[in-house]
Amino acid sequence: MSNDTNKIEYCHLCHRSSEEAGPMIHLPTNICVCNDCLQSTINSMNNMPFGFGNFGFPGQNNNNDTSSDDEDIFEDESVSEEEEENSKEKKGPSISMINLGDFAGMFPGMGSGVKVKKRDKDKPITPIIDLKDIPAPHKIKEKLDEYVIGQEQAKKIMSVAVYNHYKRVATGTMDEIEIEKSNMLMIGPTGCGKTYLVKTLARILNVPLAIADATSLTEAGYIGDDIESVLTKLLSAADNDVEKAEQGIVFIDEIDKIAKKRNTNHRDVSGESVQQGMLKLLEGAEIEVPVGSNSKNAMVPMVTIDTKNILFICGGAFPDLEEVIKERLNKESSIGFKADLKDKYDGDDNLLLQVKVEDVRKYGMIPEFLGRLPVLFALEALSEDMLAEILTEPKNAILKQYQKLLELDEVDLEFDEDAIKSIAKKAKEKEVGARALRAIIEEFMIDIMYEIPKDDNIGQVIITGDYIENKGAPKIIMRNVPRIEQA
Ligand code: ADP
Repeated sequence: MSNDTNKIEYCHLCHRSSEEAGPMIHLPTNICVCNDCLQSTINSMNNMPFGFGNFGFPGQNNNNDTSSDDEDIFEDESVSEEEEENSKEKKGPSISMINLGDFAGMFPGMGSGVKVKKRDKDKPITPIIDLKDIPAPHKIKEKLDEYVIGQEQAKKIMSVAVYNHYKRVATGTMDEIEIEKSNMLMIGPTGCGKTYLVKTLARILNVPLAIADATSLTEAGYIGDDIESVLTKLLSAADNDVEKAEQGIVFIDEIDKIAKKRNTNHRDVSGESVQQGMLKLLEGAEIEVPVGSNSKNAMVPMVTIDTKNILFICGGAFPDLEEVIKERLNKESSIGFKADLKDKYDGDDNLLLQVKVEDVRKYGMIPEFLGRLPVLFALEALSEDMLAEILTEPKNAILKQYQKLLELDEVDLEFDEDAIKSIAKKAKEKEVGARALRAIIEEFMIDIMYEIPKDDNIGQVIITGDYIENKGAPKIIMRNVPRIEQA
């Protein structure tokens, strides 16, 4: 084994680098292979005739039964004598060659050696938030208001949904009366605050959060992350405490990318099957999850996670969904005498707010999938005014961050009204929502941050609209001159 951890190695079989495929397993004669290839080799041996399948690696489930609820992930699975006899008859003698589990920890990446705190299945769960500590919806929204600008409807819907969700978790009513889970599907243009809302929500509630990208998820067996990998992430966000993870939040972004391809005759392996694969996860099931790795693998220990109490929030921009909504609205309005208003929805920035389940289904999300995300809502596109507010108002607003930085040099940084308007206008033009703000500000703040500390006599800097528009310089006020207050 090489001691040089920075050295990039390549898998002898798939030629992926160790950066891509993870640490390599070193074999005699100076060959190294990645975990995935070694696993595929073992799998194909298991599928060979003449009982190769019976090579059986103790600790590994050879019958591919993923529903096994073996609790102790580090323990070998015990096979009853009777079962063993039966399998001998069917497949020939069972030869137990090696126990890969024994190598765990010997090679980097093989068995993570992570200590997992498992839940005692016989005991009722300890709620992550006590019933009396769950903030009421209006309190949750008040907190969200401190950070997220606009999106009133979305904040309201989310506050109620998480309140109900954690109330059910705390009282265990999910089992008694079958109340639907409050899984959500949020639709909104890029950069309007979808991820930010979920992150803020998880922080307010102090629950573990995992964020995954639907584009990286594939059906098991394809290159990419297995669907279960989102639970691996959640487990690690919960400090490997299974009970905590089982009450966390999973946010799956870019969910529109797994929409069924419309108007195609080809079998769609990427989108629809990933949606199918996610059904079990969303509705609540016990799922075997690899610990500390993105894919199932003989060398990675597994743990069972029950997703019954996990809140799933899916988000996506759903480009062109407006067209589907428009089509429906036009159809609705042409029934009767309103046919002449056909173009009235053109140019409407917030058509998305009128979204209905049927639109999303038409877009390519399968009905079973949508049925498991009962809370559907849309976010507004950010207007110039909202962008201006995002610059200045939230608790951790970008301008406040720069002001704080310069305050450490005892320099007072101000932005006049024109400057803020001008930044918001530029950001709006870029059409990437609030994400453009930081890029625009950084561009001109570099010079300010570079020049100001050069001169100890500078006491105040006022960024003007002209400066943003490249038509003038910022106002610089020396320390011995009275400061100019901005409105
Ligand atoms: P997306 O909707 O694409 O998930 P994000 O939530 O990642 O967008 O937004 C990017 C960044 O823009 C966030 O980190 C946040 O700083 C800022 N932002 C976006 N929308 C808002 C908003 N409504 N209020 C305050 N900040 C926002």
